[in-house]
Amino acid sequence: MFKALGFFPCPVCGGDGAGCNDFCPECMKRFRRFASPRCPGCGGTVDGILAQCSSCVQEPMRPWLYAVTCFRYDSFGREVIHKFKFGNFPELARPLGRMAAAEMRKCSEPIDLLTSVPLHWTRYWRRGYNQSVLYAELCAAELGVPFRQVLRRTRPTPHQADLPRKERLKNLKGAFAVKRGEHIKGLHIWLADDVFTTGATLHEAAKTLLKAGVADVRVLTLARV
Ligand SMILES: [Zn+2]
Ligand SMILES: [Zn+2]
Repeated sequence: MFKALGFFPCPVCGGDGAGCNDFCPECMKRFRRFASPRCPGCGGTVDGILAQCSSCVQEPMRPWLYAVTCFRYDSFGREVIHKFKFGNFPELARPLGRMAAAEMRKCSEPIDLLTSVPLHWTRYWRRGYNQSVLYAELCAAELGVPFRQVLRRTRPTPHQADLPRKERLKNLKGAFAVKRGEHIKGLHIWLADDVFTTGATLHEAAKTLLKAGVADVRVLTLARV
């Protein structure tokens, strides 16, 4: 009934979602965005005189060429991501996908295919959806580029957040594989995930893609810690 009247509520506060199920202007203002210049390693703001931010400078070689992120993973950003991931609110994929597409349009990096970090089926089964697939699919549709889930998890991995930094990469070793029958050789691939924390998950997934012969990898996340 609301739809017939042209009213689409904002998925966060229930206010008027600008007629297209988008965030309302008030909620849109509450996201904290990153100022330019942006770091090619994580998408955050460059905070020194180097080309990368201070946390990327300390990282061993990132296997990707470029990174885009949308907003800070702080109070409001975290609230929205939590609602999307754990609150059974898959409809947040549309406004978040649109936001991601707007960020990606700002750079002129090549893209042949957008894909996302997969969940192990046991976690997928519990949650009912993979939030990164949902928003990345909508982002790809906005940009007019193909989306395909080309990676799979070979085994379940303990939650990264529960592990000390050094253990994270070890925990993920060999956790991904390219799905049988996927032809991705020579492609410029963008890899989507929800939150950029240390980049360990993206690191392992990107390396799996590179081993399979893709031309290069770039990463897209909704938020950065
Ligand atoms: Zn709102
Ligand atoms: Zn960075």
